[in-house]
Amino acid sequence: MLFRDISPVLADPAAFRVLTDALVAGLPAGTDAVVGIEARGFILGAAVAYAAGLGLATVRKPGKLPVVRHRVSYSLEYGTATLELPEDTIRSGERVVIVDDVLATGGTVAATQELVEHAGGVVAGVSVILELAALKARDRLPGLDITALLTA
Ligand code: 5GP
Repeated sequence: MLFRDISPVLADPAAFRVLTDALVAGLPAGTDAVVGIEARGFILGAAVAYAAGLGLATVRKPGKLPVVRHRVSYSLEYGTATLELPEDTIRSGERVVIVDDVLATGGTVAATQELVEHAGGVVAGVSVILELAALKARDRLPGLDITALLTA
């Protein structure tokens, strides 16, 4: 499995700014909040939320939260994973954009969508730096407005 590491991009001030600005520019009109997926989605999501003047809801890996609003398990290429949403982060009717670094199979975003909708939110869009097109995440995420700055 080839892993695309975006750490050098985050470490480059000009690249980090350009990518963050592009993600902000791509936010759908009427976005109420950003949802960042642990861990690189936190970094990008926080930058996007701050620049856009929005709040950030954090979707966590298991075992980190004192109170879990909802939990979803899903399959990965190898094995399974679980994501959790904290209490009191997404309000009913809120239109959120999910931010992450890489969109691969789409399982992580699908699980995050389930968490958002369970809390009464609506996924207005998905914004990533890189989409691994061969893994066909869009087939798994019908109806979602997906913005990828780069495709590989
Ligand atoms: P998916 O659920 O779409 O298969 O995988 C996406 C999740 O796994 C994202 O949270 C992303 O951070 C991580 N991921 C999967 N493949 C890669 C990769 O090649 N590079 C990086 N940086 N993250 C990946």
